[in-house]
Order: sequence, then C-alpha cells, then structure tokens
Amino acid sequence: GEERCIACKLCEAVCPALAITIDMQQREDGTRRTTRYDIDLFKCIFCGFCEESCPVDSIVETRFFEYAFEKREESIMTKPKLLAHGDRMEASIAADRAADARYR
Ligand code: SF4
Ligand code: SF4
Repeated sequence: GEERCIACKLCEAVCPALAITIDMQQREDGTRRTTRYDIDLFKCIFCGFCEESCPVDSIVETRFFEYAFEKREESIMTKPKLLAHGDRMEASIAADRAADARYR
C-alpha cells in the first residue's frame, strides 16, 4: 500500500528531455517521499531511461502511449494521475514483466 518511489531523483537527472520535475520532503521516520512528481508528456520521448535508472522499479512504462489532450495542462502527468494510471495498468505491467523474464 506504500508507494515505492524514494525520491532519489535519478529519473529526473537522467531524462534527456527534462520532462520530469520532482520535489521531495523527508518524513519524520527519516524516509523520503515526493511531494511533487510531474512528467510533461509534450516533452517525453518515451525513451525509457527513467525506468532503467530507477533503483526500486517505481517508474514503469506501459503499453499505453497514445494520448490526446484538449487543454495544454492535461499533458502534465501529476503524481495522483501517475499512481492511478499504475493501479489501472497493474495486470498488464505484471504480464509484460513476466514475458520479458522469459526472453532473458
Ligand atoms: S521516457 Fe520520457 S520521462 Fe522517461 S527519461 Fe525518457 S523522455 Fe524522460
Ligand atoms: S521514480 Fe525511481 S528513480 Fe525516480 S525519484 Fe522515484 S525512486 Fe528515484
């Protein structure tokens, strides 16, 4: 039930399109969590570097990459949107991971 992201900012640093913006805060128990995690889909080129850099498998590309927007601000995938998207895509992400493992 807890988000995996530890706010290390590796994905933000590695993104060649500067599409990721992260703010973070340390909790009372010493762990770090993001207070803001935005991906600008107008900038993202779906290169997958963020996924490869993440040490805790927090950010994962899905099969869904065709987006349409009516307002410019809809291109920003905020943390709540990303978490909801991850929940919706959980089954297909697990299936893709299993298929990947078979080919390694
Ligand atoms: S997939 Fe998008 S957000 Fe991730 S590193 Fe590549 S350009 Fe940046
Ligand atoms: S998604 Fe992964 S790489 Fe990016 S800040 Fe969170 S833990 Fe670090």
